Amino acid sequence: MSNAGNKADAMQVFDVVIVGGGMVGATLGLALARQGRRIAVIEAREPTPFDPAADYDLRVSAISRASQRIFEHLGAWPGMLARRASPYAHMHVWDATGNGEIHFDCAELGEPNLGHIIENRVIQDALLERLRAEDNVSWLCPASLAALAVEADGARLTMEDGCELRAPLVVGADGARSRVRELAGIDVARQAYGQRGVVATVATERPHAATAWQRFLPTGPLAFLPLADGRCSIVWSADDARAEALMAMDDARFARELGVAFGHRLGEIVSVSPRAAFPLAGSQAAAYVRPRIALVGDAAHTIHPLAGQGANLGFLDAATLADVLAGVPGDGRGDLGHHALLRRYERTRRGDNVLSMRAMEGFKLLFGNDLAPLAWLRNTGLALTNRAGPVKHELIRRAMGLSGERPSLAR
Ligand SMILES: Cc1cc2nc3c(=O)[nH]c(=O)nc-3n(C[C@H](O)[C@H](O)[C@H](O)COP(=O)(O)OP(=O)(O)OC[C@H]3O[C@@H](n4cnc5c(N)ncnc54)[C@H](O)[C@@H]3O)c2cc1C
Repeated sequence: MSNAGNKADAMQVFDVVIVGGGMVGATLGLALARQGRRIAVIEAREPTPFDPAADYDLRVSAISRASQRIFEHLGAWPGMLARRASPYAHMHVWDATGNGEIHFDCAELGEPNLGHIIENRVIQDALLERLRAEDNVSWLCPASLAALAVEADGARLTMEDGCELRAPLVVGADGARSRVRELAGIDVARQAYGQRGVVATVATERPHAATAWQRFLPTGPLAFLPLADGRCSIVWSADDARAEALMAMDDARFARELGVAFGHRLGEIVSVSPRAAFPLAGSQAAAYVRPRIALVGDAAHTIHPLAGQGANLGFLDAATLADVLAGVPGDGRGDLGHHALLRRYERTRRGDNVLSMRAMEGFKLLFGNDLAPLAWLRNTGLALTNRAGPVKHELIRRAMGLSGERPSLAR
């Protein structure tokens, strides 16, 4: 990988320019570099390198088996394990207003674990390490996209420092507030959930038992994700006002409230790290592609974090787009930005992503409600599903990305 620097005078030409070097953009960059494409990755912020002496990043992701396979194929998985990753063997979900609960165990599926909790910083750092080893990748950072012009034979990108790039295909991997999406004139349907996800790293009185815990409260779901050092990374989804109050509390008060909200499942909360809060919204871009433009990851869609699927869906976007582009001959003999080709990517991914978003909204509605019939329905549903072996197994296999149509990198 070369650091292309910011040369305002030179027009640089690539096969694909990826705007956004976050987790999803870096995954796509690596997949396309492995196909021998000349890639530029533009990233606005210098990523924070992983430091083993530093505390856990507050942003973690529950990485599915499908995402693990993608990282394995791209050679980035060993780097993630070597930095810091926390496998979990069980998942336990229950309702605060009844006795319905469901328990998943990797042994029932004959799997070594159900997935891994990994810090976002670790995922990005390990991907960028592999990206640096590719000599057909230019890493432009810090650099921000200012203008985008789509022409018949290619797209032209102008950076804020005046530097210009050209490529037959531009991919927006620039997150929920995608500049590429905006400059391409693609609308986005966004539904703010009126909730924020409060995140922190906490120590509990009792061990987490390598279990991802989720308690559904009428005010929103609360997840405790197990970390390798024995602590848990929590995601507490709460209405805006409640989230603001949670953020304003001192540590002792927050620990007490957290213990109560979690039904003291792991005893008292012994310590809490500094907290952060993220606004939660579901969104879908009106189109994932335009001629010479494709959107992946949060630039194309966001969902409620209650099932920990957002980034996993983004990795599947990247792997699917890589599959679609793999068939295009190199050296300018094929057109990587051809609309009909990009539509194949959109057709494959959009339905899946919309379905996931609707499912999360359905869960949120079903569980975030005090009405007695809904409380009965969810408790009965959880209990029945827990007893119905095949349904339960299919549910977890889907969440792990082991069933359904998968791109080649995820198999
Ligand atoms: C509380 C919370 C918990 C979550 N938990 C999970 C989970 O357990 N599992 C899971 O799968 N997902 C989870 N998610 C979702 C997940 O964090 C996102 O889906 C994921 O970060 C999206 O990655 P991305 O690379 O698409 O976008 P981003 O991570 O937003 O990366 C975009 C990148 O583009 C860069 N950029 C932006 N604009 C420009 C520009 N104009 N020019 C150049 N660069 C630019 C940014 O600096 C950034 O590096 C969670 C989300 C939240 C809020």
